[in-house]
Amino acid sequence: MIQLLPDYIANQIAAGEVVQRPASVVKELLENAVDAGATSVTVVVSDAGSTLLQIIDNGCGMSPSDARMAFERHATSKIQHIDDLQTLHTFGFRGEALASIAAVAEVTLLTRRADDEVGTQVHLMAGEPAQQTSTATHTGTSISVKNLFYNIPARRKFLKSDTVELKHIVSEFSRVALCRPEIEMRLYDKTRELYHLTPSTLRQRIVNLMGKNLNQQLIDVQVDTSMVNIHGFIGKPESARRNSGNQFFFANRRYFRSPYLQKAIISAYDKLLVRSPDTFPTYFIYFDIPPAGIDVNIHPAKTEIKFADEPVIFQMLNAAIRETLSKFAVAPSIDFDTEGAPEFPVVHKDAPPPTAPRIHIDPHFNPFEEERKSGTTHHKEKTDSNWKKLYEGIDVAATAVSSACIPETVSLSFIQVKGKYLLTPVKSGVMLIDIRRAQQRIYYEDYIRRLAGHQHASQQQVFPETVELRPEDYLLLEPVFDELRMLGYDVASLGNHTVAVNGLPSDLAGIDVREWIQSLLEELHHTPAQLKENRHAALAASLAKTATGYAAETLKPEEAQALIDRLFACETPSICPAGKPVMHIIPIEELDKKMFKN
Ligand code: ADP
Ligand code: MG
Repeated sequence: MIQLLPDYIANQIAAGEVVQRPASVVKELLENAVDAGATSVTVVVSDAGSTLLQIIDNGCGMSPSDARMAFERHATSKIQHIDDLQTLHTFGFRGEALASIAAVAEVTLLTRRADDEVGTQVHLMAGEPAQQTSTATHTGTSISVKNLFYNIPARRKFLKSDTVELKHIVSEFSRVALCRPEIEMRLYDKTRELYHLTPSTLRQRIVNLMGKNLNQQLIDVQVDTSMVNIHGFIGKPESARRNSGNQFFFANRRYFRSPYLQKAIISAYDKLLVRSPDTFPTYFIYFDIPPAGIDVNIHPAKTEIKFADEPVIFQMLNAAIRETLSKFAVAPSIDFDTEGAPEFPVVHKDAPPPTAPRIHIDPHFNPFEEERKSGTTHHKEKTDSNWKKLYEGIDVAATAVSSACIPETVSLSFIQVKGKYLLTPVKSGVMLIDIRRAQQRIYYEDYIRRLAGHQHASQQQVFPETVELRPEDYLLLEPVFDELRMLGYDVASLGNHTVAVNGLPSDLAGIDVREWIQSLLEELHHTPAQLKENRHAALAASLAKTATGYAAETLKPEEAQALIDRLFACETPSICPAGKPVMHIIPIEELDKKMFKN
């Protein structure tokens, strides 16, 4: 015999989905307050919400009849027509929250619209009909929820300690606070104020919630495409944590979780997280997307969101984070203030005033010719901008550098140590540059550019060498044949998981082909290859290692200078492709300590 469930049972079942713990109530009521246009919201909890949760807002309030209706299941003012779902900008729309909460607690609602003379009070006990009276109250709405789950002892038993439940409440509070920085928000534990957030910019709101220390750690992210706007902040690599606490995604000002999109961010940090994979980068990422492009309705608590074009969003996010990180990671951020360093160009007082340097243009200049000879190339325009930063604060040098090109006379004194390090004084001490790692960084970025199709590599024919691989290795290598050719490695299949190497980049003509393929395979083994950026990064890192393995042992002074020029023309000069530091500064205090220890 089929029977319709009585309302109070249906509501209790729905409550099982919507109201899992006190924090779920906080979430739903906060969202209602925001939907009601409140500019100020206060949350009060006692005993981590198990005895009392109260949310007070100054929003639009409700009419007496709406105040009663609000507790009916599927009662919502937010959609009238199915098409509304496509254009919705509110948090709620299912009309389930108030009905569900009232089914599992004792609820009192006080509400008044600005134009009404008296307000309304509605009191509900689980399953019992509401009592409604007129009453004096402030404009807006105040809802108190007492003794949550009093009629479902099993649920109540499942609540964790007050500390844990309060943490959940704080995190729901934070998620709303992080997408509404313009709203004043307070959270009290009984009378103890836990948070008082004043209306502010997004950055300030993040810092007010998460702690002042985060301020210097946040880097701006901003990408606008016709399909989606992505903005927000990411943490510098060193702010990465072992736990995954500071990761936030919002779509159209609604928090959501997405392990899938999180991968787009982690893979963009890639080797920058030196201790990865057990650390998680900090991020606060906001997507603005036409509502038709997402479905928020797939989860009762609406914490999961389905994007219509998820892989495209993934790629855009990944690219945005990569770009942001590479812009930020230029060398000056690691103490490149060289003020007062005597090794930088000194122009004598009685020397003639600096003149604009003449620019020589060599019509036969081919960057790859140059590269083959010395293993280094000048990328003039980029070099200039990074060099300028190096000179900031030095009056004389600044004059010279501001003339759009580096004068030939400017050179730094580098001492070379055992063909391994370049050593030079900087403002705060002594800077060491690891030559091998610097070369790897330079090759790596060069290869990445070529793989992006910006340049083509020259190639030298070699006596074809054939290498027979294990079938699984062959399957790993075959998908990158095209990319290898773009880098000057002419590889072809001979069938039977055998490859022929017919050509090599001209500066690598003498390499051991088998050894090279083995090290490449090793890198590919550790790389999820679906992502083009990942694949390119793996190829470029492995080939950079091979290339520098054959570089000259000791650099001539002009080669050292060229190496430094090229290094600082890189997007990320401070870290080698394997994520290790390229340079290191020994502070003067440390040198002092060494000298005066005894
Ligand atoms: P939903 O938010 O999905 O519409 P709820 O059960 O959360 O469903 O709320 C039902 C209705 O009650 C809302 O659509 C809204 O009209 C009204 N309401 C709830 N909370 C408030 C509030 N704080 N201020 C004004 N109206 C509210
Ligand atoms: Mg709601």
